[in-house]
Amino acid sequence: MEEIVYTMGELIGGSSHVFWTSEDMCHGSKCLVAWKDVCRPKADGGLGLGLKDLETQNQCLLMKFVDKILDGSPAPWKEWAYGMLMDSSTADGNGLRIWKSRMPNKVKVFTWLFFRDRLSTRVNLHRKHVQPVDACSRCGTSSESWQHAFFHCPYIAELWSRIGVNISNVQETEDLWSAHHPAAVCSSHWADVLLALLWRIWEARNNHVFGSELSCVRVVISRVCDDLNIWRYRLPVHSRAGLDAWRMHLVSSNCNAATASALDAHE
Ligand SMILES: [Zn+2]
Repeated sequence: MEEIVYTMGELIGGSSHVFWTSEDMCHGSKCLVAWKDVCRPKADGGLGLGLKDLETQNQCLLMKFVDKILDGSPAPWKEWAYGMLMDSSTADGNGLRIWKSRMPNKVKVFTWLFFRDRLSTRVNLHRKHVQPVDACSRCGTSSESWQHAFFHCPYIAELWSRIGVNISNVQETEDLWSAHHPAAVCSSHWADVLLALLWRIWEARNNHVFGSELSCVRVVISRVCDDLNIWRYRLPVHSRAGLDAWRMHLVSSNCNAATASALDAHE
């Protein structure tokens, strides 16, 4: 029996290593979320891997299964399941919004980590004793919390005002879902746009921190527009117009800012 328990422990440990690093072993700091939380149902804030018993644990190699769950394809049973989850007292509202999005799975898993504050910001790395200080490595003026990295760092703060999204009341990540945005764009696609924005903001931060590129706000918005232009095909035909309206809004936001900048330079 001890041997069986040992073997399953190894299997579970090995699964987490593969999940986080695609390698047989991984350092503790690379395990962004406790494995037991990863395995919890999505309704409870996990990834819904469902490792509850030996039979399921045997299936935990892994990403194929995750991909199947998160593929975003429409299915009546999924709608039913979401409805059931919404009634649950333990339902994770962030997770439900994320998993219902039609954005790619890599973006959804990233956003899941963002909403759990498990990204490798300097504050989180410092907490894990990976970094000696928690100061933002871009501006150096503040601790790099998730709020700073995505909203208040001088390198990104202007993005939100440029696209007309009011983040002044965002205290918790949950507040983002109800952030006020321009009336001309569709509220029902805000979640998709938010996921794309967070994805590209983090990419720009990483490119800057690791020295490969310094991306300005205009470039970040432009890349989000490119993403939405591709990812629109993940949506049903009848609902693409709403996402297109958002993309056009982002394009015009960049154009308006460029025009204003040119006029300022001319004066
Ligand atoms: Zn900063």
